[in-house]
Amino acid sequence: MTTTLRTNATLDLGPAAALSCRECGNRTPLAAEFACAECFGPLEVAYEFGTIRREDIEAGPRSIWRYRGLLPVPADVDDHANTQPGLTRLIRADRLGAELGLKNLWVKDDTGNPTHSFKDRVVAVALAAARQLGFTVLACPSTGNLANAVAAAAARAGWRSVVLIPSSLERAKVLTTAVYDGALIAVDGNYDDVNRLATELAAEHEDWAFVNVNVRPYYAEGSKTLAFEVAEQLGWRLPEQIVVPIASGAQLTKVDKGFQELGTLGLVEPTPYRVFGAQATGCSPVSTAFRSGGDVVHPVRPDTIARSLAIGAPADGPYVLDAVRRTGGAIDDVSDDEVVAGIRLLARTEGVFTETAGGVTVATTKKLVEAGKLDPEAETVLLITGDGLKTLDAVADHVGPKATVPPSSKAVHEALGY
Ligand SMILES: *Cc1c(COP(=O)(O)O)cnc(C)c1O
Ligand SMILES: [Zn+2]
Repeated sequence: MTTTLRTNATLDLGPAAALSCRECGNRTPLAAEFACAECFGPLEVAYEFGTIRREDIEAGPRSIWRYRGLLPVPADVDDHANTQPGLTRLIRADRLGAELGLKNLWVKDDTGNPTHSFKDRVVAVALAAARQLGFTVLACPSTGNLANAVAAAAARAGWRSVVLIPSSLERAKVLTTAVYDGALIAVDGNYDDVNRLATELAAEHEDWAFVNVNVRPYYAEGSKTLAFEVAEQLGWRLPEQIVVPIASGAQLTKVDKGFQELGTLGLVEPTPYRVFGAQATGCSPVSTAFRSGGDVVHPVRPDTIARSLAIGAPADGPYVLDAVRRTGGAIDDVSDDEVVAGIRLLARTEGVFTETAGGVTVATTKKLVEAGKLDPEAETVLLITGDGLKTLDAVADHVGPKATVPPSSKAVHEALGY
């Protein structure tokens, strides 16, 4: 289950103090481990934070590293060549809000990251921790965004990378990973097969850091930076409602953890907030569990165009249910047609072209407003986590030129109905 224990006197993971089990609370020293030795529960990073001041954060790098005092990375993390993700824009979304019936709406536009998805955040943190833990190769199993982010981060850092993808992956995703010239391996099998293979290889190669497997506790912390940025960009306040897409569920649980840390550290007033989750109906195990009122997330076989969210057995599913229920939020899911409509609505109203995951978030938000679950008056943030250029097929049959005309102004006017 775990790779060789790596702890040494020089291990510097900043404020990170230990790994603790999310099930039984057992604490173990910081190391390249991901499962509890007592109960096999997932491990997460526990901290001993120093004094952190808003001014120091504001004076920091224009990337996620301004929050390095809240992450499992050394203070000099940005001295090493890295992709410097984050500090993406938070935009007022009044036109989208008017369509959705939300009076105070913001969009966190994470398409602006180096490889155009939020995965650059988690990969950058994983690489920084992996360097400290003694790894030399960056690896992952992936169906797209993670592959792009790992291959690019390794290239920038001068590391070798090993990226495993299902051989059926779409050409665009293969090319946008292969261009970084790491070792891209297409595996005859589906994503579950690729994932199993990654776990096997992680056990065999001491120096391979599979970002979402053997260094997952560190990787997952990178998602907190979405919460930190939203709060800072709102003027050091927490929003009242936030809508987050769910794949493994790590992002949602860490956004919640990030908001809590800001409150505990006195960086924001610990005002109440509600966390909402979004899934595609074709892969909605967490939404289904939420609706049933139960605690068990039953695995499903994904069948949706929202491939970046298509994890049928989400590792953080039960913790997502906890966070959403504790904060008074809700989870819902939407059809593939609604996903496409969500992509088009965001593009038409705000000029932001998102991939299918963003379509899931927008369309689920619409549904949650209509069901009375989202408060129309409350300040609301939507996390738009990836770029539409990655999933052009989703809109290919729905949008195109209004007309094809000869090069004459008359023909243009006719086409426009002027
Ligand atoms: C991976 C991914 C997510 C969600 O990630 P989890 O932390 O696994 O829930 C959301 N949006 C996009 C675009 C992604 O690639
Ligand atoms: Zn345990």
